Amino acid sequence: MKEILVLGSGVSGLSTALKLAKDGHKVTIWSLEPAGFFPRGSANAYAMWWPVADPAQPRLEGWAEFTFTELSALASDPATGVVMRKVMALKMKRETPWFAKLSGFRHALPGEISAEYADAHVLDTAPIVDPGVYLGWLYKQCTESGVTFEQRAVSAFADCPAQYEVIVNCTSLGSRSLTGDKDLYPSRFQVVTIKQNGFDSVVFDDEGPNRRACVVPHRDYIKLGAVVDEHIETSETDPAATLDILRRCAKMIPGFKADLTDVLSVVRACRPERRTVRVEAEKVCGRTVVHNYGHDGMGYIISAGIADEIRQLVKT
Ligand SMILES: Cc1cc2nc3c(=O)[nH]c(=O)nc-3n(C[C@H](O)[C@H](O)[C@H](O)COP(=O)(O)OP(=O)(O)OC[C@H]3O[C@@H](n4cnc5c(N)ncnc54)[C@H](O)[C@@H]3O)c2cc1C
Repeated sequence: MKEILVLGSGVSGLSTALKLAKDGHKVTIWSLEPAGFFPRGSANAYAMWWPVADPAQPRLEGWAEFTFTELSALASDPATGVVMRKVMALKMKRETPWFAKLSGFRHALPGEISAEYADAHVLDTAPIVDPGVYLGWLYKQCTESGVTFEQRAVSAFADCPAQYEVIVNCTSLGSRSLTGDKDLYPSRFQVVTIKQNGFDSVVFDDEGPNRRACVVPHRDYIKLGAVVDEHIETSETDPAATLDILRRCAKMIPGFKADLTDVLSVVRACRPERRTVRVEAEKVCGRTVVHNYGHDGMGYIISAGIADEIRQLVKT
């Protein structure tokens, strides 16, 4: 049993803390938020699962597959906020992606998508996480497993009390000052939440005429995105961007209707961009610091896989 300090109470910190606590370690979480409150980045994600791979990051696919299995198993319990949905990535050309091997993969059927697109990569069922519900569920699981929480800012790993043998750094963009990492930067997303209207598939366009449009139906509401500004971290919202998001989403999906009267909230939240996700251990002042940050738009879909890798690493 080790005494472990996890920095950060977003999806990365909570997922990692939970696995470590279940292994019998004594785990404390410090974060800038009070106990039971969650950071803007994690709390406002679309939080949908989509296959990821990158030759520069060979561990990515395994982390995502592990997380797929874990999240899918949670979908039978409404308290977790996980639901299974059809997910469609709209495409300008018909090509077979690397993940065509996954069960449930198919191309778009005739009439299934707008005539603006040539195809869609479709997963008939994948886990979609309601961030507010899931973070609350993780928090409850953590407290029930003995994890303790404190609102406390760290300015250097060396300042953390010596009783903690291992520090797990899940501070996301906070790692810029803690580690001096120059590869890490924010991308600010404006996201619009609308009332649930019965639409029940995730649809997004990352490359076509409505690029960055994204419709993510959770159980009780639908998230629409996004307008994106790189290297900007402030959180003020822009009414013109809201109208633009509503217009692009309606154009992307024939028959999908949403206007200002449907809007429940508008937020801007940042994604932690980095060329590669950083999951590795280093020694700082004789102690092990395990980094877990720079997840880009994948923080949810690789969270359980990374947490499991850190759990193995801490065992050794
Ligand atoms: C609009 C949007 C949509 C997204 N959609 C998806 C999606 O569909 N799928 C997906 O997988 N991912 C998605 N993401 C990305 C995902 O949200 C992030 O990758 C993830 O939330 C990162 O989580 P985290 O726990 O590492 O960081 P955060 O949630 O940012 O948490 C960081 C924590 O570190 C703490 N902290 C920081 N500095 C310090 C310090 N000095 N001392 C103590 N504590 C500190 C903070 O208080 C906070 O608790 C999306 C993001 C956005 C913004």
